Amino acid sequence: SEVEVSDYAAPRYVRVNTLKIGVNDAFEVLSQFTDVQYDDMIPYLLVLPAGTDLHDHSLVLQGSLFLQGKASCMPAQALDPIPEWEQVLDACAAPGNKTVQLAAIMKGRGRILACEQDRSRLKTLKKTVELAGASNIEVLHQDFLQSNPFAAKFSKVRAILLDPSCSGSGTTLHRLDNLLPSFAKGQLEEDKEKQRVECLARFQEAALRHALSFPAVERIIYSTCSINKRENEDVVASVLPFAHAHNFELATAFPEWPHRGLEVVDGAHHLLRTDAARDKTDGFFIALFVREQSWPSSLA
Ligand code: SAM
Repeated sequence: SEVEVSDYAAPRYVRVNTLKIGVNDAFEVLSQFTDVQYDDMIPYLLVLPAGTDLHDHSLVLQGSLFLQGKASCMPAQALDPIPEWEQVLDACAAPGNKTVQLAAIMKGRGRILACEQDRSRLKTLKKTVELAGASNIEVLHQDFLQSNPFAAKFSKVRAILLDPSCSGSGTTLHRLDNLLPSFAKGQLEEDKEKQRVECLARFQEAALRHALSFPAVERIIYSTCSINKRENEDVVASVLPFAHAHNFELATAFPEWPHRGLEVVDGAHHLLRTDAARDKTDGFFIALFVREQSWPSSLA
């Protein structure tokens, strides 16, 4: 199939780092040389014409603006942590775009625990935190799956952002790759990809169950930049009984967004999908779990 160029003429997004600059001030600076609009869903996201290149702009170099797509901004915004919360956990944090977005949503208050397993990606995470000027982030070099939810240091974690490793099939580059004619992709490669996705999905399920086990948590976002059912709705379906047993329910992230989950799981209308070609932003998946009641005493 042919790739329509218009499919990829997506607008550019910049997330204003409100720890460093006001949204209106950033708007004013950018509007001096290009068309700028406010995004209709995320109050600190600005929309620029397709092809705008801001890599070398001083506001980007100094960490006042982050080149972060709309879909990538949606998970932390949907988690919606309140600045009064003492602890929020970013379970799979590097390179840290969403970590520093959380820090800004929290207005620099509370404490964000940013967990990352990979040593070299940890360095990138630390650089992102420094660039953003966020002082309420504690970086933890840790395998999230090995963290003890009942440890005293996590006792006040009220929200978890779980954005684990995924196939990345929702990103534009992968999408282009997926559109290659089948003769360009051997059967062997397809089998390997299937196995990789299955492996990732099992990790994602384990990580989501682990997140649901933190005793003080009230809100959890599970997000991927994958468009595969196996990494998205199937992961949600497999943990739902565990979630219900721990008093979590699915809730609707961005109710105004028209594109919801595939109808293969109870509560698919709560889930959110973005699609690169249709929505002109990367393909993402978001599930929001909310717990109203406190931890059941039988499980404490
Ligand atoms: N949320 C990040 C952002 O917006 O910048 C992107 C996260 S990326 C999709 C997933 C990250 O999780 C990778 O940096 C990976 O090294 C890390 N990771 C994978 N398995 C992990 C584990 N068991 N514990 C902690 N981090 C893990």
